[in-house]
Amino acid sequence: MQAIQILATGGPEVLTLRDLPTPTPGPGEALVRLEASGVNFIDVYFREGRYPAKLPYTLGQEAAGTVVATGDNVTMVKAGDRVAWCGVPGTYAQLAVAPADRLVQIPEAVTFQQAAGAMLQGMTAHYLAHSTYPIRRGDEVLIHAGAGGVGLLLTQMAKSLGARVFTTVSSEEKAALSRAAGADEVILYTQEDFAAKIKKQAPKGLNAVYDSVGKSTFDKSLEVLRPRGTLVLFGGSSGAVPPFDLIKLSALGSLYITRPTLKDYIATRQDLELRATAVLNSIADGTLKLRLEHTYPLTDAAHAHRDLESRITTGKLLLIP
Ligand code: NDP
Repeated sequence: MQAIQILATGGPEVLTLRDLPTPTPGPGEALVRLEASGVNFIDVYFREGRYPAKLPYTLGQEAAGTVVATGDNVTMVKAGDRVAWCGVPGTYAQLAVAPADRLVQIPEAVTFQQAAGAMLQGMTAHYLAHSTYPIRRGDEVLIHAGAGGVGLLLTQMAKSLGARVFTTVSSEEKAALSRAAGADEVILYTQEDFAAKIKKQAPKGLNAVYDSVGKSTFDKSLEVLRPRGTLVLFGGSSGAVPPFDLIKLSALGSLYITRPTLKDYIATRQDLELRATAVLNSIADGTLKLRLEHTYPLTDAAHAHRDLESRITTGKLLLIP
């Protein structure tokens, strides 16, 4: 089977197409023929070496496909089931093995591409809006990179929970998409000072900022919070935030900062099922809209990485094996 591996860390050029033996599912595992794999920023972090991996390493942590075989002691899924998952490495491939208790069944009304496109970013948006800083009706929140994969989904969820939503984006085209997802105030942070604008439009300050951009936005994200507001730093698309002096949180108004990660919010089967069901069912009934305009053949994984990093994409990127 074909897979995209890295043999060394570096730029998109290190992504290498390789022929590998078909993996064998061990006890508790299932072998899945993939129909689509999600491309996520975390794949870039692994490729660059920002997150360590044992080489050679098959990239990718999100996919959907059909179970073709199961190992011993698997009762949750059987051959022929349509399943999706995330958080298990090795999905830039035609076949992958995953623990059966990490797989979720895809509802009939949801396509493989929708499922592969929704698992990681959809469940991330879900835990951010419902659990990390649970949004209440009337809250004012900021979502950076509002036209990105997580950004578009989080905006829709924040609106459905009753928030006034500010977003930042880098272009007019992205601004239109962010507005269409429900954002109330969209700021082009590459052209104007987002903190100055928010201070005018929300003089009391915001209840929460969801910041996945990191290095270039972090300081101003803190500035726009109201006393006892929460900064949810969940990524570093512009680079990692340098070490930070906690005394600043007191000076800025007893602020909270958290640095959450999806795996801790889907660690139990119960949490995984709750979030996956919520996301996949809202795609099935049309209340959550996914943008899937960026699909690439598996062999073009490097192209997908270049596009994601050059900020030209919106919504989800998928590889089709
Ligand atoms: P996006 O589709 O949001 O792509 C990243 C976006 O970040 C770009 O489109 C761009 O939007 C913005 N950006 C700002 N500065 C830069 C820069 N210097 N270089 C590149 N992009 C920049 O990606 P995802 O939805 O896949 O992921 C969003 C973020 O969320 C990532 O940082 C990811 O690591 C994080 N994440 C965290 C999870 C967690 O549990 N902690 C889980 C899932 C994702 P614009 O052009 O509008 O500025």
